[in-house]
Amino acid sequence: MSIRKVGVLGCGLMGSGIVEVAAKAGLETVVREVNQALLDKGLARIQASLGKAVERGKLAAEGRDAAVSRIHGTTSFEALADCDLVVEAIVENLEEKKRTYAELDKSVKRSTIFASNTSSLTITQLAMATSRPERFVGLHFFNPVPVMKLVEVVRTLLTDDGVLATVQDFCKTIGKTPVACKDNSGFIVNRLLVPYILDAIRALEEGVGSVQDIDEAMKLGCGYPMGPFALLDFVGLDTTYFIANIMFEEYREKRFAPPPLLKQMVQAGRLGKKSGRGFYEYTRA
Ligand code: NAD
Repeated sequence: MSIRKVGVLGCGLMGSGIVEVAAKAGLETVVREVNQALLDKGLARIQASLGKAVERGKLAAEGRDAAVSRIHGTTSFEALADCDLVVEAIVENLEEKKRTYAELDKSVKRSTIFASNTSSLTITQLAMATSRPERFVGLHFFNPVPVMKLVEVVRTLLTDDGVLATVQDFCKTIGKTPVACKDNSGFIVNRLLVPYILDAIRALEEGVGSVQDIDEAMKLGCGYPMGPFALLDFVGLDTTYFIANIMFEEYREKRFAPPPLLKQMVQAGRLGKKSGRGFYEYTRA
């Protein structure tokens, strides 16, 4: 089976990126939002991103126009009825996701594959909220979606082999590199990245080095594009705190436990770039 028509649930930060890459790759793409205002906002974000790609010479104007013509916005589930794959990128809330999957399950054809972009929930519990757990995978994209090449393809104990092969091909079609992983909390990237970031905060707490020196050391010593504190500010301290807590809950290992400084900074509203201050200060334009 090959994916010809894609549905995307949610046109926020991640959903809009997924719509953009699918449409650019030549696939008919339907995106659902909860209301027209949010849909318009998401579609405008996609237009702006495609416009930037043209400005930078990465996409021809005709390519942009063709991509836009393949994108169809909706607020209904019925418009997703004949999609071969639906990628869900709505708010990270289990109850909301379960409600949405129940609606989707009723509205689309039996062969439609479901994929969740969740960062912290298990794919298994989402799959079990549908009548088709064997046609359910995790497709974990990275932010910003049009730029980041990786997609973690997550299989559960119940995922069908053919479904897995189909979604891996889909990732390649949209210009991404899939890596396969099990449905373990954090998948591959966060499983390795979160303990590293938390350890950087512990090193700071212990006075091993300053924020700037730890960042500089990891950039120049390891060739990382940014140090752990710049990365924390980019991802959001609240998001990192949320994910670390879920991983600690799952594994009960100290390396996943959020250090006190992280908790205090979140409580103090120092969330990183989005709040204007995290480990660094950002002046708003
Ligand atoms: P976001 O808040 O930017 O966007 C979520 C969008 O979903 C909102 O526009 C909201 O109106 C919409 N929505 C809510 N309920 C809906 C429904 N029932 N149907 C359709 N749309 C609905 O969030 P985001 O950062 O794009 O995250 C979305 C998902 O992607 C989450 O599961 C998150 O864990 C995951 N994720 C996020 C990142 C990241 O860096 N932000 C990275 C990887 C994965």
